Amino acid sequence: MTSKPSEQKTGQLVVPGDRIGVIEEFIPDTGTYVRDGVIYSKVIGRVLVDLTHKRVTVHQLAESAKVPVTGSTIVGQVSNAQNETAGVRIFEVGSEKVEGVFQGILHVSDVQMRYVDSMFDVCKAGDILRAKVISEKNMTYHLSTKDKNLGVVYAFCSNCGSLLEPRRQAMHCPKCGRIERRKLASDYGVGLVERRKGEEENEG
Ligand SMILES: [Zn+2]
Repeated sequence: MTSKPSEQKTGQLVVPGDRIGVIEEFIPDTGTYVRDGVIYSKVIGRVLVDLTHKRVTVHQLAESAKVPVTGSTIVGQVSNAQNETAGVRIFEVGSEKVEGVFQGILHVSDVQMRYVDSMFDVCKAGDILRAKVISEKNMTYHLSTKDKNLGVVYAFCSNCGSLLEPRRQAMHCPKCGRIERRKLASDYGVGLVERRKGEEENEG
């Protein structure tokens, strides 16, 4: 006499108006609404499907949670860089922290207007960069840095980890003297440092 535990499946992130299913398949529950037999999401959240009871709900993300959308300006850390693409872990949208894990991808053709040969001249793993979301598919955010204020805002020496300083056309490591290349945002090294100072003042 064991009651079978509900079989549940957590699905994708949805925003209000996203189609989730039809009433022939599921019983609509919290966080959903129905129009003409179609179930839509009412909130920003994750779809939760109870396969045992054929019930579908949308588990709302915290109200303060920010989610990147097409057109958002994001800040993230480069998780990996290959010749043609770089992966970016997004942690801010606008200037607010995001809740959850959002993965961005920057393609070498979206770096700047003029031709860029290799992503290795643009950013490296560990760098912090600002970019714009140009499209989103299956929770992968395609990014662009085709603007003066977009690009790397914080770059680290791949030899010793020090903060790199812009010098003429390249980046210079003040500690070990290594020369590297990056696609910089116009306020490289300024924005984050200033904000850090501000945060310290607020705390004290
Ligand atoms: Zn160095």
